[in-house]
Amino acid sequence: MAEPSNQEEATASFLEAFLRDTHPDSLVTGLGGYGLAAVYDSGRAGVSTLLRCELDALPMPETLAGPEGPVTRGCSHRCGHDGHMAMMCGAALDLSTSRPPSGRVTLLFQPAEETGEGAARVLAEAFFRDSCFDYAIALHNLPGFTMGSVILGEGRFAAASEGLIARLSGDSSHAAEPEKGRSPGKVFPYIISALSEVPQHSAGLQDSAKVTVIHARLGEVAFGTSPGKAVIMATLRAFDEKVMNALRTECESVCRRLSSAFGIDCEISRTQSFPATANDPAAVEVVRRAALSLGLGIHEVRRPFPWSEDFGHFTSVFRGALVGLGSGLEQPPLHHPEYVFPDELLETGRTLITSIAGALADAGESGEDLS
Ligand SMILES: [Zn+2]
Ligand SMILES: [Zn+2]
Repeated sequence: MAEPSNQEEATASFLEAFLRDTHPDSLVTGLGGYGLAAVYDSGRAGVSTLLRCELDALPMPETLAGPEGPVTRGCSHRCGHDGHMAMMCGAALDLSTSRPPSGRVTLLFQPAEETGEGAARVLAEAFFRDSCFDYAIALHNLPGFTMGSVILGEGRFAAASEGLIARLSGDSSHAAEPEKGRSPGKVFPYIISALSEVPQHSAGLQDSAKVTVIHARLGEVAFGTSPGKAVIMATLRAFDEKVMNALRTECESVCRRLSSAFGIDCEISRTQSFPATANDPAAVEVVRRAALSLGLGIHEVRRPFPWSEDFGHFTSVFRGALVGLGSGLEQPPLHHPEYVFPDELLETGRTLITSIAGALADAGESGEDLS
Protein backbone atom coordinates (compact mmCIF):
# COMPACT_ATOMS: atom_id res chain seq x y z
CA MET A 1 0.00 0.00 0.00
CA ALA A 2 1.52 3.29 -1.02
CA GLU A 3 -0.24 6.63 -0.70
CA PRO A 4 1.23 10.12 -1.03
CA SER A 5 1.42 12.74 1.72
CA ASN A 6 -1.99 13.83 3.04
CA GLN A 7 -3.79 11.00 1.23
CA GLU A 8 -2.84 8.12 3.53
CA GLU A 9 -6.47 7.13 4.12
CA ALA A 10 -6.31 3.41 3.24
CA THR A 11 -2.98 3.02 5.04
CA ALA A 12 -4.44 4.61 8.18
CA SER A 13 -7.57 2.51 8.04
CA PHE A 14 -5.52 -0.70 7.71
CA LEU A 15 -3.36 0.37 10.66
CA GLU A 16 -6.36 1.31 12.78
CA ALA A 17 -7.78 -2.21 12.46
CA PHE A 18 -4.36 -3.76 13.13
CA LEU A 19 -3.67 -1.58 16.17
CA ARG A 20 -7.13 -2.19 17.65
CA ASP A 21 -6.29 -5.90 17.72
CA THR A 22 -3.25 -5.13 19.85
CA HIS A 23 -5.63 -3.71 22.52
CA PRO A 24 -3.93 -0.40 23.26
CA ASP A 25 -5.16 1.55 26.30
CA SER A 26 -6.20 4.26 23.89
CA LEU A 27 -6.12 4.73 20.15
CA VAL A 28 -6.39 8.23 18.71
CA THR A 29 -7.08 8.71 15.00
CA GLY A 30 -7.26 11.70 12.65
CA LEU A 31 -4.10 13.32 14.00
CA GLY A 32 -2.89 16.06 11.64
CA GLY A 33 -4.83 14.37 8.84
CA TYR A 34 -4.68 10.57 8.88
CA GLY A 35 -2.24 10.17 11.80
CA LEU A 36 -2.81 7.60 14.56
CA ALA A 37 -1.43 7.19 18.06
CA ALA A 38 -1.70 3.97 20.07
CA VAL A 39 -1.00 4.29 23.79
CA TYR A 40 0.19 1.33 25.91
CA ASP A 41 0.04 2.26 29.57
CA SER A 42 1.56 0.31 32.45
CA GLY A 43 -0.84 2.00 34.86
CA ARG A 44 2.15 3.04 36.96
CA ALA A 45 4.00 6.36 37.07
CA GLY A 46 7.13 6.50 34.96
CA VAL A 47 8.67 7.71 31.73
CA SER A 48 6.32 8.67 28.91
CA THR A 49 7.88 7.66 25.61
CA LEU A 50 6.82 8.62 22.10
CA LEU A 51 8.01 6.48 19.18
CA ARG A 52 7.26 7.78 15.69
CA CYS A 53 7.05 6.36 12.18
CA GLU A 54 5.65 7.82 8.96
CA LEU A 55 2.63 6.92 6.82
CA ASP A 56 3.40 8.52 3.48
CA ALA A 57 4.97 7.33 0.25
CA LEU A 58 6.54 9.39 -2.55
CA PRO A 59 4.99 10.67 -5.78
CA MET A 60 7.21 8.34 -7.83
CA PRO A 61 5.80 5.63 -10.12
CA GLU A 62 5.94 2.06 -8.82
CA THR A 63 8.41 0.42 -11.19
CA LEU A 64 9.01 -2.77 -9.26
CA ALA A 65 6.52 -5.62 -9.34
CA GLY A 66 5.33 -6.65 -5.89
CA PRO A 67 3.35 -9.78 -5.00
CA GLU A 68 0.06 -7.92 -5.48
CA GLY A 69 1.27 -5.26 -7.89
CA PRO A 70 1.15 -1.52 -7.27
CA VAL A 71 -1.84 -0.25 -5.29
CA THR A 72 -1.68 3.44 -6.08
CA ARG A 73 -0.50 4.51 -9.48
CA GLY A 74 2.32 7.05 -9.52
CA CYS A 75 3.18 6.47 -5.87
CA SER A 76 5.74 4.23 -4.20
CA HIS A 77 7.52 3.67 -0.90
CA ARG A 78 10.98 4.80 -1.96
CA CYS A 79 11.89 6.16 1.48
CA GLY A 80 11.12 2.92 3.33
CA HIS A 81 8.25 4.31 5.40
CA ASP A 82 6.41 1.03 4.70
CA GLY A 83 9.23 -0.77 6.55
CA HIS A 84 9.10 1.74 9.42
CA MET A 85 5.35 1.12 9.81
CA ALA A 86 5.83 -2.65 9.76
CA MET A 87 8.54 -2.41 12.46
CA MET A 88 6.24 -0.29 14.62
CA CYS A 89 3.39 -2.77 14.12
CA GLY A 90 5.77 -5.45 15.40
CA ALA A 91 6.50 -3.29 18.46
CA ALA A 92 2.72 -2.86 18.93
CA LEU A 93 2.37 -6.66 19.05
CA ASP A 94 5.13 -6.82 21.66
CA LEU A 95 3.46 -4.11 23.76
CA SER A 96 0.13 -5.84 23.38
CA THR A 97 1.36 -8.85 25.34
CA SER A 98 3.88 -7.07 27.50
CA ARG A 99 3.24 -3.53 28.75
CA PRO A 100 6.27 -1.49 29.91
CA PRO A 101 7.04 -2.08 33.63
CA SER A 102 6.24 1.57 34.34
CA GLY A 103 5.16 4.70 32.51
CA ARG A 104 3.62 4.50 29.07
CA VAL A 105 4.60 4.13 25.44
CA THR A 106 2.86 5.92 22.58
CA LEU A 107 3.34 4.68 19.03
CA LEU A 108 2.70 7.51 16.58
CA PHE A 109 2.04 6.87 12.89
CA GLN A 110 2.55 10.35 11.44
CA PRO A 111 1.18 11.56 8.09
CA ALA A 112 2.81 13.84 5.51
CA GLU A 113 6.47 13.62 6.51
CA GLU A 114 7.79 13.99 2.97
CA THR A 115 6.21 17.41 2.55
CA GLY A 116 7.36 18.61 5.98
CA GLU A 117 3.79 19.30 7.11
CA GLY A 118 2.83 16.31 9.24
CA ALA A 119 4.92 16.74 12.39
CA ALA A 120 3.91 20.37 12.99
CA ARG A 121 0.24 19.57 12.31
CA VAL A 122 0.25 16.56 14.63
CA LEU A 123 1.95 18.57 17.38
CA ALA A 124 -0.78 21.22 17.15
CA GLU A 125 -3.47 18.62 17.95
CA ALA A 126 -5.17 18.60 21.37
CA PHE A 127 -3.78 15.08 21.96
CA PHE A 128 -0.25 16.52 22.00
CA ARG A 129 -1.18 19.64 23.90
CA ASP A 130 -2.70 17.42 26.62
CA SER A 131 0.10 14.84 26.71
CA CYS A 132 3.54 15.21 28.16
CA PHE A 133 6.31 13.13 26.62
CA ASP A 134 9.64 12.71 28.36
CA TYR A 135 11.27 11.26 25.24
CA ALA A 136 10.53 11.16 21.52
CA ILE A 137 12.45 8.74 19.32
CA ALA A 138 12.25 7.92 15.61
CA LEU A 139 14.20 5.45 13.49
CA HIS A 140 14.93 5.95 9.79
CA ASN A 141 16.50 3.28 7.63
CA LEU A 142 19.74 4.42 6.00
CA PRO A 143 21.12 2.77 2.87
CA GLY A 144 24.91 2.92 2.61
CA PHE A 145 25.37 1.62 6.17
CA THR A 146 25.81 -2.01 7.24
CA MET A 147 22.50 -3.85 7.48
CA GLY A 148 21.17 -3.70 11.02
CA SER A 149 23.79 -1.27 12.32
CA VAL A 150 22.56 1.66 14.39
CA ILE A 151 23.68 5.13 13.33
CA LEU A 152 23.88 7.62 16.18
CA GLY A 153 24.80 11.27 16.40
CA GLU A 154 24.54 13.69 19.30
CA GLY A 155 23.48 17.28 18.63
CA ARG A 156 22.63 18.19 15.05
CA PHE A 157 21.73 15.06 13.11
CA ALA A 158 19.88 16.26 9.99
CA ALA A 159 19.83 19.56 8.11
CA ALA A 160 17.17 22.22 8.01
CA SER A 161 15.66 22.82 4.59
CA GLU A 162 12.94 24.83 2.92
CA GLY A 163 11.51 25.44 -0.53
CA LEU A 164 11.70 28.82 -2.24
CA ILE A 165 9.30 29.69 -5.07
CA ALA A 166 10.01 32.71 -7.29
CA ARG A 167 7.12 33.65 -9.59
CA LEU A 168 8.24 36.01 -12.37
CA SER A 169 5.74 38.09 -14.30
CA GLY A 170 6.02 40.41 -17.26
CA ASP A 171 3.67 40.67 -20.26
CA SER A 172 3.20 38.09 -22.96
CA SER A 173 3.19 39.16 -26.60
CA HIS A 174 3.07 37.59 -30.05
CA ALA A 175 6.07 35.35 -30.64
CA ALA A 176 6.68 37.39 -33.80
CA GLU A 177 6.97 40.54 -31.67
CA PRO A 178 8.69 39.68 -28.38
CA GLU A 179 9.90 43.28 -28.18
CA LYS A 180 6.30 44.39 -27.55
CA GLY A 181 6.03 42.30 -24.38
CA ARG A 182 8.10 41.76 -21.25
CA SER A 183 9.28 38.18 -21.28
CA PRO A 184 10.90 36.79 -18.14
CA GLY A 185 12.94 34.64 -20.55
CA LYS A 186 15.96 36.92 -20.44
CA VAL A 187 16.39 36.93 -16.68
CA PHE A 188 15.36 33.26 -16.25
CA PRO A 189 18.77 31.61 -16.82
CA TYR A 190 20.57 34.28 -14.76
CA ILE A 191 18.39 33.59 -11.72
CA ILE A 192 18.84 29.81 -12.01
CA SER A 193 22.58 30.19 -12.25
CA ALA A 194 22.84 32.84 -9.51
CA LEU A 195 20.75 30.80 -7.03
CA SER A 196 23.14 27.86 -7.29
CA GLU A 197 26.00 30.23 -6.50
CA VAL A 198 24.43 31.76 -3.39
CA PRO A 199 26.14 29.46 -0.83
CA GLN A 200 29.49 30.53 -2.27
CA HIS A 201 28.68 34.12 -1.32
CA SER A 202 26.62 33.81 1.83
CA ALA A 203 28.09 30.88 3.79
CA GLY A 204 31.55 30.81 5.33
CA LEU A 205 33.96 27.91 4.85
CA GLN A 206 32.96 26.59 8.29
CA ASP A 207 29.26 26.57 7.36
CA SER A 208 27.60 24.05 5.11
CA ALA A 209 24.88 25.35 2.83
CA LYS A 210 23.34 24.29 -0.43
CA VAL A 211 20.81 25.69 -2.91
CA THR A 212 19.41 23.22 -5.45
CA VAL A 213 17.14 24.41 -8.24
CA ILE A 214 14.51 21.65 -8.43
CA HIS A 215 12.02 23.03 -10.94
CA ALA A 216 11.80 25.82 -13.53
CA ARG A 217 9.17 26.64 -16.12
CA LEU A 218 9.07 29.46 -18.63
CA GLY A 219 5.79 30.33 -20.38
CA GLU A 220 3.55 27.68 -21.90
CA VAL A 221 3.91 25.32 -24.86
CA ALA A 222 2.49 27.87 -27.31
CA PHE A 223 4.70 28.53 -30.32
CA GLY A 224 2.82 31.70 -31.15
CA THR A 225 3.38 33.38 -27.80
CA SER A 226 6.37 35.04 -26.18
CA PRO A 227 6.02 34.18 -22.47
CA GLY A 228 4.78 36.57 -19.81
CA LYS A 229 5.30 34.31 -16.80
CA ALA A 230 7.88 31.96 -15.33
CA VAL A 231 8.45 30.10 -12.10
CA ILE A 232 11.67 28.92 -10.48
CA MET A 233 11.78 26.67 -7.41
CA ALA A 234 14.78 25.82 -5.28
CA THR A 235 15.52 23.93 -2.07
CA LEU A 236 17.71 25.67 0.52
CA ARG A 237 19.67 23.61 3.03
CA ALA A 238 21.79 24.45 6.06
CA PHE A 239 22.67 22.91 9.40
CA ASP A 240 21.64 25.82 11.56
CA GLU A 241 19.08 28.58 11.60
CA LYS A 242 21.57 31.43 11.34
CA VAL A 243 23.03 30.12 8.10
CA MET A 244 19.56 29.27 6.79
CA ASN A 245 18.41 32.86 7.47
CA ALA A 246 21.42 34.26 5.60
CA LEU A 247 20.82 31.87 2.72
CA ARG A 248 17.13 32.77 2.48
CA THR A 249 17.81 36.51 2.57
CA GLU A 250 20.42 36.25 -0.17
CA CYS A 251 18.32 33.97 -2.41
CA GLU A 252 15.34 36.31 -2.18
CA SER A 253 17.55 39.30 -2.84
CA VAL A 254 19.13 37.64 -5.91
CA CYS A 255 15.69 36.88 -7.38
CA ARG A 256 14.40 40.42 -6.73
CA ARG A 257 17.52 42.30 -7.85
CA LEU A 258 17.91 40.39 -11.11
CA SER A 259 14.19 40.53 -11.93
CA SER A 260 14.10 44.25 -11.30
CA ALA A 261 17.19 44.83 -13.48
CA PHE A 262 15.30 43.16 -16.36
CA GLY A 263 12.02 45.00 -15.69
CA ILE A 264 10.27 41.85 -14.47
CA ASP A 265 8.07 41.54 -11.36
CA CYS A 266 9.02 38.92 -8.84
CA GLU A 267 6.88 37.40 -6.10
CA ILE A 268 8.51 35.08 -3.61
CA SER A 269 6.99 32.49 -1.29
CA ARG A 270 8.28 29.71 0.93
CA THR A 271 7.09 26.14 1.42
CA GLN A 272 7.96 22.79 3.03
CA SER A 273 10.04 24.14 5.86
CA PHE A 274 11.93 21.46 7.85
CA PRO A 275 13.80 22.53 11.00
CA ALA A 276 17.19 20.98 11.72
CA THR A 277 16.94 17.81 13.82
CA ALA A 278 18.91 18.15 17.05
CA ASN A 279 19.48 14.96 19.06
CA ASP A 280 19.55 15.04 22.83
CA PRO A 281 22.66 13.23 24.15
CA ALA A 282 20.69 11.43 26.92
CA ALA A 283 18.15 10.14 24.39
CA VAL A 284 20.97 8.97 22.13
CA GLU A 285 22.59 7.21 25.10
CA VAL A 286 19.41 5.23 25.80
CA VAL A 287 19.25 4.08 22.17
CA ARG A 288 22.97 3.23 22.29
CA ARG A 289 22.36 1.05 25.35
CA ALA A 290 19.37 -0.67 23.73
CA ALA A 291 21.37 -1.35 20.55
CA LEU A 292 24.35 -2.71 22.49
CA SER A 293 22.09 -4.99 24.53
CA LEU A 294 20.92 -6.52 21.24
CA GLY A 295 24.50 -6.88 19.97
CA LEU A 296 23.90 -4.46 17.08
CA GLY A 297 26.85 -2.59 15.56
CA ILE A 298 27.03 1.13 16.30
CA HIS A 299 28.15 3.78 13.87
CA GLU A 300 28.72 7.17 15.49
CA VAL A 301 28.49 10.12 13.09
CA ARG A 302 30.27 13.38 13.85
CA ARG A 303 28.68 15.51 11.13
CA PRO A 304 24.96 15.93 10.49
CA PHE A 305 23.33 14.41 7.41
CA PRO A 306 22.47 16.79 4.54
CA TRP A 307 18.88 15.57 4.20
CA SER A 308 16.00 16.87 6.31
CA GLU A 309 13.36 15.20 8.44
CA ASP A 310 10.34 16.83 9.98
CA PHE A 311 11.08 14.92 13.20
CA GLY A 312 13.07 18.09 13.99
CA HIS A 313 9.73 19.55 15.14
CA PHE A 314 9.58 16.86 17.83
CA THR A 315 13.18 17.26 18.96
CA SER A 316 12.60 20.99 19.32
CA VAL A 317 9.71 20.34 21.74
CA PHE A 318 10.71 17.10 23.50
CA ARG A 319 13.98 15.56 24.52
CA GLY A 320 14.50 13.18 21.62
CA ALA A 321 16.57 11.60 18.92
CA LEU A 322 16.33 10.58 15.30
CA VAL A 323 18.34 7.44 14.82
CA GLY A 324 19.53 5.67 11.67
CA LEU A 325 19.15 1.95 11.05
CA GLY A 326 21.55 0.68 8.38
CA SER A 327 19.66 -0.93 5.48
CA GLY A 328 22.69 -2.30 3.63
CA LEU A 329 25.86 -1.12 1.96
CA GLU A 330 24.69 -2.11 -1.52
CA GLN A 331 21.24 -0.52 -1.34
CA PRO A 332 20.32 2.27 -3.77
CA PRO A 333 19.90 5.59 -1.93
CA LEU A 334 16.60 6.77 -0.45
CA HIS A 335 14.17 8.24 -3.03
CA HIS A 336 15.95 6.30 -5.82
CA PRO A 337 13.51 4.55 -8.21
CA GLU A 338 15.00 1.15 -7.30
CA TYR A 339 15.15 1.63 -3.54
CA VAL A 340 13.16 -0.97 -1.58
CA PHE A 341 13.06 -1.41 2.19
CA PRO A 342 14.79 -4.76 2.90
CA ASP A 343 12.44 -7.17 4.68
CA GLU A 344 15.35 -8.78 6.54
CA LEU A 345 15.66 -5.56 8.54
CA LEU A 346 12.11 -5.75 9.94
CA GLU A 347 12.81 -8.02 12.88
CA THR A 348 15.90 -6.03 13.93
CA GLY A 349 13.91 -2.79 13.76
CA ARG A 350 11.01 -4.25 15.72
CA THR A 351 13.31 -5.56 18.45
CA LEU A 352 15.21 -2.30 18.61
CA ILE A 353 12.03 -0.22 18.99
CA THR A 354 10.74 -2.52 21.75
CA SER A 355 14.15 -2.45 23.47
CA ILE A 356 14.32 1.35 23.35
CA ALA A 357 10.89 1.54 24.99
CA GLY A 358 12.08 -0.97 27.61
CA ALA A 359 15.38 0.85 28.22
CA LEU A 360 13.58 4.14 28.82
CA ALA A 361 11.10 2.51 31.20
CA ASP A 362 13.95 0.79 33.08
CA ALA A 363 15.85 4.06 33.40
CA GLY A 364 12.70 5.69 34.79
CA GLU A 365 12.14 2.75 37.17
CA SER A 366 15.61 2.94 38.63
CA GLY A 367 15.21 6.67 39.07
CA GLU A 368 18.24 7.22 36.88
CA ASP A 369 18.83 10.83 35.98
CA LEU A 370 18.87 10.74 32.21
CA SER A 371 19.74 14.36 31.89
ZN1 LIG B 1 11.95 10.55 2.18
ZN1 LIG C 1 11.81 9.08 5.02
